Amino acid sequence: MKQREWISARISAMPDPIRYRPHHFLCSLGFEGKGYSPEFTANMTAIVMGQLRATGGDATVIEVTGAADSICAPCPKRRGTHCTSQDKIKVLDRAHAAALKLKPREILTWADAKSRIRENVRPGSLKTLCAGCEWEPFGMCEGALARLHEG
Ligand code: SF4
Repeated sequence: MKQREWISARISAMPDPIRYRPHHFLCSLGFEGKGYSPEFTANMTAIVMGQLRATGGDATVIEVTGAADSICAPCPKRRGTHCTSQDKIKVLDRAHAAALKLKPREILTWADAKSRIRENVRPGSLKTLCAGCEWEPFGMCEGALARLHEG
């Protein structure tokens, strides 16, 4: 069975596959348990700590989406498939999709995503890549990016 067929089979067997808009791959790398509301933070913690960073989490399958995703689901800023900060989010998604070479509906594992980040996003580049994000000045994402590059 080819890799793509194998991944598709895995997804169809899963009740609720993770879907990520492009900028949430790097956000998940840097996540330290802070968010926009208790519900948002609990959901992101369950995905990032409970799946991606859990034992075997590198094999977690993620589908790329251009709209509100698994992280956005309980966000107080979500309005249907959009966001109250839609313009800012669109800019972030475009920049991150280009940087990570992500295509709409692409399917990849968390290990693939981390490799993509390591290959394409240099330490020190988030001030530009994530311009406008309110979390960027705190430095936790840059810290996580540096640790990823250090291996
Ligand atoms: S700085 Fe913002 S957009 Fe960039 S990875 Fe961190 S949380 Fe995501």
